[in-house]
Amino acid sequence: MSGFNLKEGQYNNRPLSDDEMWSAFSYVFSSNSKNSTSYKFGFLKSILDNLYNVDSELRLTFDQLFTKFAEVYWNLILKYNLRQSPKTSDNKMTYIEQILYSAASIYKIADGVPFEKLPADIIIKIAHDVKMKCKINVVGALFDDTKRSFYSFSRREEWIKINPLMYEFVCKHKVVIEKLNYYEWAKFLEKVNDDSVVIHLLDKLDESGKRHNLSIYRQILYDEFESNLCFYCGKPITDKRVEVDHFIPWSFVKDDNLWNLVLSCPDCNRSKRDRLPDKYYLDKLVMRNDIITREFNRLDMNNYKDDNLRLIYYYARVNGYDKIWKPKKVV
Ligand SMILES: [Zn+2]
Repeated sequence: MSGFNLKEGQYNNRPLSDDEMWSAFSYVFSSNSKNSTSYKFGFLKSILDNLYNVDSELRLTFDQLFTKFAEVYWNLILKYNLRQSPKTSDNKMTYIEQILYSAASIYKIADGVPFEKLPADIIIKIAHDVKMKCKINVVGALFDDTKRSFYSFSRREEWIKINPLMYEFVCKHKVVIEKLNYYEWAKFLEKVNDDSVVIHLLDKLDESGKRHNLSIYRQILYDEFESNLCFYCGKPITDKRVEVDHFIPWSFVKDDNLWNLVLSCPDCNRSKRDRLPDKYYLDKLVMRNDIITREFNRLDMNNYKDDNLRLIYYYARVNGYDKIWKPKKVV
């Protein structure tokens, strides 16, 4: 792991075979890749959860990545009490633990409060502190461990740019890579934590970036865009009987993006569960998103493209989301 103190790096710009790309990830998950903390797993998760937020050059900013990183670690450390490095005799903590515990004390946050419930200005401050400290080691370390083929990065300009070959590869195998990452991360956490906190560890890792309160999106879609019919069955919805649904399931996308959220009646939401809607609804969503892009000037739609939505739908099918759902009765 020599790359940890690099200021910038450029990915190998040559054709890569599938075997070479697998071997870049196999290395991260092998015992040759040394981990005194869980940072590499956390940073890889931050990239995977942001995979569909890239700009047209496949770039992600450090703000995008380290906001997710801060959220994941806040929930693992403060909500679930999971240590991120082995216990030492002087009880030394990792930087991420130091930053988050000190933020909780400065801002007087009660025990067990999830990241999404923190006030917006405090979230921005915490994410900034995490970025300033963690960008120094984490970005270069994963760059090096993926054999300098996954992404380029600049610490000064604060971005990573994913190798297009690797981007396609990771989109195709996202679910498998994510599961491998959780497996190795869980193994690491089991070693450094007491048995009492490692129960349901895989769920804790997977849910560490999940927001449970989507009411802000409900308000945007219901009030601002005045949608008052269920996106799927067309039944009228009321502000008491309305749910925000991830069109492509959250378990695949792992993020809340306006372009992927629709209002649904509770019946459709319950019956759809973790399935992809029929292609007819994909076309309908593309039309809905066209209207949002044209008529409302929203920052969170800046990187949205119809073709990308169709690609993500395709990749979800490739990744095992091949059971297609339709509402039983359409009004
Ligand atoms: Zn419905």
